[in-house]
Amino acid sequence: MCLSHVVPVPKVSRRAVLTAGAVVSGALAFGAGEASAATEAFVITNVRIFDGKRVIDRGHVVVAAGRIVAVIDRGAVPAGLRVVDGHGKTLLPGLIDGHVHHTGPVRTDAPRFGVTTELDMVSNPAVHGPFQQQRRSYAPTANSDLWTAGWWATVPGGWGTDSGQTFPLVEPGTVPAEFVAARRAEGSDHLKLALEDVHLVTQQPIPVLSADQTTQLVAAAKRLGMPAVAHATRQSMARQGLRAGVTGLVHLFSDEVASADTVALARRSGAFVNPTLTLWSALESAANPASNAVVRDPRVAPYISATQRAFLETPWGFERPGLRTVSRNVKILHDAGVPITAGTDSGIPGIAHGVSLLVELELLVRAGLTPREALTAATATPAGVYGFTDRGRVKPGLRADLVLVDGDPTTDITALRGISAVWRNGAPVSR
Ligand SMILES: [Zn+2]
Repeated sequence: MCLSHVVPVPKVSRRAVLTAGAVVSGALAFGAGEASAATEAFVITNVRIFDGKRVIDRGHVVVAAGRIVAVIDRGAVPAGLRVVDGHGKTLLPGLIDGHVHHTGPVRTDAPRFGVTTELDMVSNPAVHGPFQQQRRSYAPTANSDLWTAGWWATVPGGWGTDSGQTFPLVEPGTVPAEFVAARRAEGSDHLKLALEDVHLVTQQPIPVLSADQTTQLVAAAKRLGMPAVAHATRQSMARQGLRAGVTGLVHLFSDEVASADTVALARRSGAFVNPTLTLWSALESAANPASNAVVRDPRVAPYISATQRAFLETPWGFERPGLRTVSRNVKILHDAGVPITAGTDSGIPGIAHGVSLLVELELLVRAGLTPREALTAATATPAGVYGFTDRGRVKPGLRADLVLVDGDPTTDITALRGISAVWRNGAPVSR
């Protein structure tokens, strides 16, 4: 039996309650033939459920064979299942970090902090491993699922070319469609464009993609069904990306307060914004109080790996104020209805996979999102803008990537520091 056939309920509803018994018995029948401790069916009971958009004050969630099988917002606990008591806790979809850099084969740090999906925004495709097969699988795994940009689009001497790595560049004679097709062939899921005309460190002008190159690259990516996202830390460059029709901005500019024109441009374009407030916090001050408040919390500190700690404790060596302006721009764009997604830029100094997304969500709330809106920015919104249909919500039929948290992060975002359990494909993640 394919489990999709025993998941008839598309959303939380009275029908979910009425059919829960049949759903559960079907799931148990499925599980019986391939029982293992990791894929055992279970029910999380009497738990507050944040489904990615709204809150169910008290319900039960049934998991079997890697998927959410039923979300029961009223009625009795289904019989015959192992019970995880969710009383006093909140169940969330696995979190999505919309801006990371994948730096090696191990992706276990993120799920230990509830981050079950990561969107890489430039890395060497040679280090990715079998990430595409993994994200289609429902087998137990301790790794995050990965979508990647692979190499990005930048020009000779442009942003990123002094990284010490050698990769293909957009030369004067490069045909944009051929450049994008080559990235696609390497395994890139989305195209990342570097729209940085002033070096973030030296503050000196650097070469950058022209408006025409930007437009052609974005169009080529869209023809191949690839989202096109832009790095821009200055408003003028963000506008170049928005005019070209980028799917999203994967930083938010810090040089100026967003103008009415830019807000209108963003709204018209339909682009999302991934502000990476965590990055701006790390750049602003080596003391990085926002990050340290989280990583030194006794609910968090014991779970930080040596790799995470090494990233968190590596300073940038310079300071670049910007957090206040970027936070203000988040509020302006959010109030205007521009979709906001959460992202950290982890994989670079001062920022670590997994744990830094907790920092980002706290910074989004400080910028003016409600805790619930911040959680949506790490679940339903990124799933929507990238077209993921198997994750980002707590709904029957979706992948059982779940986070159980003590307390109520939908009213106090810092409660997310108190993670009680994480499941990947319905299997518990060892913390
Ligand atoms: Zn980045």
